Amino acid sequence: MKYIGAHVSASGGVFNAPQNASKIGANAFALFTKNQRRWEAKPLDDATIEKFKAACQLYHFSADQILPHDSYLINLGHPETEALQKSRNAFLDEILRCQQLGLTLLNFHPGSHLKKISSSDCLLRIAESINWALEKSKTVKAVIENTAGQGTNLGYQFEQLATIIEHVEDKSRIGVCLDTCHTFVSGYDLRTTQACDDTFQAFSDIVGFNYLSAMHINDSKVPLGSHVDRHASLGEGKIGWICFQYIMQDNRFNSIPLILETSNPNIWADEIRQLQQWAK
Ligand SMILES: [Zn+2]
Ligand SMILES: [Zn+2]
Repeated sequence: MKYIGAHVSASGGVFNAPQNASKIGANAFALFTKNQRRWEAKPLDDATIEKFKAACQLYHFSADQILPHDSYLINLGHPETEALQKSRNAFLDEILRCQQLGLTLLNFHPGSHLKKISSSDCLLRIAESINWALEKSKTVKAVIENTAGQGTNLGYQFEQLATIIEHVEDKSRIGVCLDTCHTFVSGYDLRTTQACDDTFQAFSDIVGFNYLSAMHINDSKVPLGSHVDRHASLGEGKIGWICFQYIMQDNRFNSIPLILETSNPNIWADEIRQLQQWAK
């Protein structure tokens, strides 16, 4: 079965997200559990946690259909000790918030070397940060998102994802979220059935589908290999519908959140309906 949804608003409280997802016909959703542009957040109180759990039950979302995303400020590969610790603390706080809400996944961007350390040192640092946070928590799986490779962001090559995973101690609590836009702008073609076969075979060989824990389903405004992160609505970008139809009809993408982060929320319901028609 395919779990298809979008990154919905949690404004007014995390408990509003399940209804927002249900309204657009989604059977999966992503959300921020705090303001994604701020370091601090007030702790979740018992009433909020209970309301969130009740809303998930009411609208039929279980933990494996929900993909929380962490703050954009966090850099788990930060080259400077103090800033690294600040990021680690914030990441752990995000994990603990998920734990409180009964959620089991946390989607995050791996990190940036900021031209101050080598890529390989930065990847090791990211793995150490993940180990540090996993040791201090339970149940939540850290789900690394592949990036567009914009600026000094790492995680745009499958080999980089594999290196991070290799150095994470608890392999049962590490996973990957492949963003189709990021994959494409990193140089992996997805425009034809053959291109999708080749790209996902490379992912299978280098990382392994056993680690695939979620997908972000986005078209791209910019061309193959451009390393720029600009999402487009499905079929309106440089990737095109073939890729999205391919994913919907392939069992390797079953039972994980498939989340739209496309540029026009007003047509998310239509995009979900189209994807569900192809899904098996
Ligand atoms: Zn994404
Ligand atoms: Zn993106």
